[in-house]
Amino acid sequence: MKISLLIENEPGTMARVMTAVSRFGLQLGGHRLDRVDSENHSPLLIVANGTATKMDLTTRLRDVRGVVEVLGIEAEGADSKGNDTKKSGPTPNSVDVVDQLVSAYPKVLRLIEQHEHALRKNENRNQQMRALGEAVGKKLLVRGADLKPQATISDAIQKVLIPVLKPIARARVDGGNVCVDLSVFTRRQVNTMDLVLGGEASRCDFLTGMIRGMINAVPNLPRARVKEIRCRTNGDPSCVFRVETRANVY
Ligand SMILES: [Zn+2]
Repeated sequence: MKISLLIENEPGTMARVMTAVSRFGLQLGGHRLDRVDSENHSPLLIVANGTATKMDLTTRLRDVRGVVEVLGIEAEGADSKGNDTKKSGPTPNSVDVVDQLVSAYPKVLRLIEQHEHALRKNENRNQQMRALGEAVGKKLLVRGADLKPQATISDAIQKVLIPVLKPIARARVDGGNVCVDLSVFTRRQVNTMDLVLGGEASRCDFLTGMIRGMINAVPNLPRARVKEIRCRTNGDPSCVFRVETRANVY
């Protein structure tokens, strides 16, 4: 099976991941780490032999210190009954999708919807959309020439995030949180089916990831996690993204 992860660039992380995979009864076949020096996280692809329940393995790997996100687990031969184009198609969250979104920005809604639709039946879809948003958010900032260090998370939100988000989201800082009063992700009338299918909510997953990716790309800030605690999709007046720093990472 192929296991795709996003891991922190900290010594020991890869060893811990490999140990966890082995302890799951899987035989390690090979791995590839695509390290990007300017980023805090790197994508890691592991090929392993054996069988494991996707959800169990995902849960286990997510608990490994240094694992930022489980991007996908693909059982080899699982889609051999499906058509070949699907089998040879791009993996979710591939570098292609990230690059496409970064170069299309801010005209990204349709691309995001297409990508999300492809993931519709995947149980990790929300996590994958967050991971995709994170990669896009980081890349958007890293490619900018004037990425200055910021003293606080609030400064970073005010001076860096809000201007970048402006074409897709009207955002403001509120007590260290990011408040979004209007965005392309929740602008349209939500119908009941969207709520049932979770379509609207998961597009805020992309924005959640994007905010996290951007904050973590700003130099000199503690590492942060971002969680959407209120959402317009649920009838709240604004989407509120809480920024949590994780001092225990160091
Ligand atoms: Zn929302």
